Amino acid sequence: MKREGQIKVDSENLFPIIKKWLYSDKDIFVREVIANACDAIKKYQSICLMGDAEDDGIKPRIDVVLDKENKTLTFSDNGIGMTDDEVEKYITQIAFSGAQEFLEKYKDKTDGDGGIIGHFGLGFYSAYMVSDTVEIQTLSYQKDAQPVHWVSDGSSTYEISDGDRTSKGTSVIMHISEDGKEFLDAVKIREVLRKYCKFMPYEIYFSVAGVELKEEEKPVNNTSPLWQKAPKDCTTEEYEDFYRDTFMDMNLPLFWIHLNVDYPFRLKGILYFPKQTDKLQVMPGEIKLFSNQVYIADNIKEVVPEFLMLLKGVIDCPDLPLNVSRSFLQNDGEVAKISRHITKKVADKLTSVFKNERKDYESYWDDISPFIKFGCIKDEKFYERVKDIILYKSINGDYKTFAELPKQGNKVYYVSGMDEQSQYVKMFKDNGLDAVILEHNIDTHFVSFLEYKETDTKFVRIDSEVGEALKSEGSDVMNEEIVNIFKNALGMEKLTVTAQALKTSDTPAIITINEYERRMSDINKIYGNMFGNAGPASQTLIVNTDNSVVKKLPVLDSEKKTLLCKHIYDLALISQRKLTAEELDGFISRSVEVLGFIG
Ligand code: ADP
Repeated sequence: MKREGQIKVDSENLFPIIKKWLYSDKDIFVREVIANACDAIKKYQSICLMGDAEDDGIKPRIDVVLDKENKTLTFSDNGIGMTDDEVEKYITQIAFSGAQEFLEKYKDKTDGDGGIIGHFGLGFYSAYMVSDTVEIQTLSYQKDAQPVHWVSDGSSTYEISDGDRTSKGTSVIMHISEDGKEFLDAVKIREVLRKYCKFMPYEIYFSVAGVELKEEEKPVNNTSPLWQKAPKDCTTEEYEDFYRDTFMDMNLPLFWIHLNVDYPFRLKGILYFPKQTDKLQVMPGEIKLFSNQVYIADNIKEVVPEFLMLLKGVIDCPDLPLNVSRSFLQNDGEVAKISRHITKKVADKLTSVFKNERKDYESYWDDISPFIKFGCIKDEKFYERVKDIILYKSINGDYKTFAELPKQGNKVYYVSGMDEQSQYVKMFKDNGLDAVILEHNIDTHFVSFLEYKETDTKFVRIDSEVGEALKSEGSDVMNEEIVNIFKNALGMEKLTVTAQALKTSDTPAIITINEYERRMSDINKIYGNMFGNAGPASQTLIVNTDNSVVKKLPVLDSEKKTLLCKHIYDLALISQRKLTAEELDGFISRSVEVLGFIG
């Protein structure tokens, strides 16, 4: 038997287009062909289960064989196989129309939306991205079935003849083209198998024709990945091993969440909270999405809420089609439900760790806080769920919840840099005052977010509006006089000068910065001066009328007054920030003059 046929094509250039468009993700053909092989095995198993065929007892397997000499790559399975009619129907009609439909749909999209291409497989025909000719040798499981051979060189014609398979199943033989020659390399094939097939549900064996196996033959995949096990049967060691192996991360994760949902949709997975290695930046995570153990893609933000992308994990959603496109996901109500459910589970787990293991939770806090804060900003529902378990580290080293926060009136003082604001921290500590440390980059945004949500509370940096917190009961008598002395001596129009008795009598003066203006200028810096150069935030010099030097100022001659005022201002400035070279020069020469007072 031998016959030829013509694949119905509207566009004569279908294959060149497939090749060009799928260029960036060429390796996806491996997943497509192996996923088909898995389906074929599964179908056979279902037929046996239903009693429509007798199980031949042969262990399901898929073989990938690289033959460098003949430039072929062969994928064989021992699944259901196909009859002549089925080849005709499924391969030349259905599969092809699938490919055509895809092209119809996306032909106007440009490369700019590469995501679609990456996540949209083309099924069987993706083989032509790397092959000149593809052959199929197949034998159906059905009694008395005849083996069939199908071949097409990627033009629109094909040929069907008697095949030579002697056991049920299908082999897809790809004659690798010049374009696909990188796939004639065993290292490359292993890498692609690892990427797409690591957890496929049936054993996959890879071999190179003519190369003797030195060791015992081992499958390249793990057919029962940990997420498929019941959480109660998994050990800590297994979770950690799985993490290391899947994400190649030698740092152990802090903890994990094992998702296992049957209703209203099926979803399994494990989400790990990685240890953050960078104290200031949030490190990107990695969430691998699977459908029945077949890898779909990484970091699909429609399924996994964006902020959870900071975690590392696997999610298996059998209800998702393999060939997901972005537009499908965005418009699918089920997908949004999945995403919400994952968020809820994460919040539940965090709450349970907080309630049952508060000490552990505190020890993880520094690592997980950027992630949680990012989540709150991105998703207000998440914030509602976790707001009572957000911790704030105080300058005294303990962790407090929002309700436990140290407040001065409605103000919460915070430190955005323990080193830069060390003098203020010291003043606070000396006076039994407390403040919280919000040092991470995300905190700039988080503080604004909190104020927007919790309108009764105002966050002020420790070097802003501290006058009130540090105010002591001293007399107000000299205040006006002192202010005038300083104003005259410094002659700085933009500087506001006030005088009051401060609790720290050793400190002659402190500088405070306008909180609002400083935040604006910080944000402006983050966005690269997008809002123009607004200039530095305005400052206030608070002179301490309880300080012994300040007290003496009024009786000094005007030269000494000026000198000391400038010197006191410099000291206050040093506590607040680094001096510029010019300021430092002035400070040093004045210090020498001040020392001269001794004589
Ligand atoms: P899809 O898998 O999305 O249906 P494909 O183009 O990959 O599209 O395959 C088309 C059809 O060809 C499959 O639905 C299946 O019926 C048949 N087929 C493909 N590969 C195999 C195989 N290895 N064994 C049996 N049937 C197969």
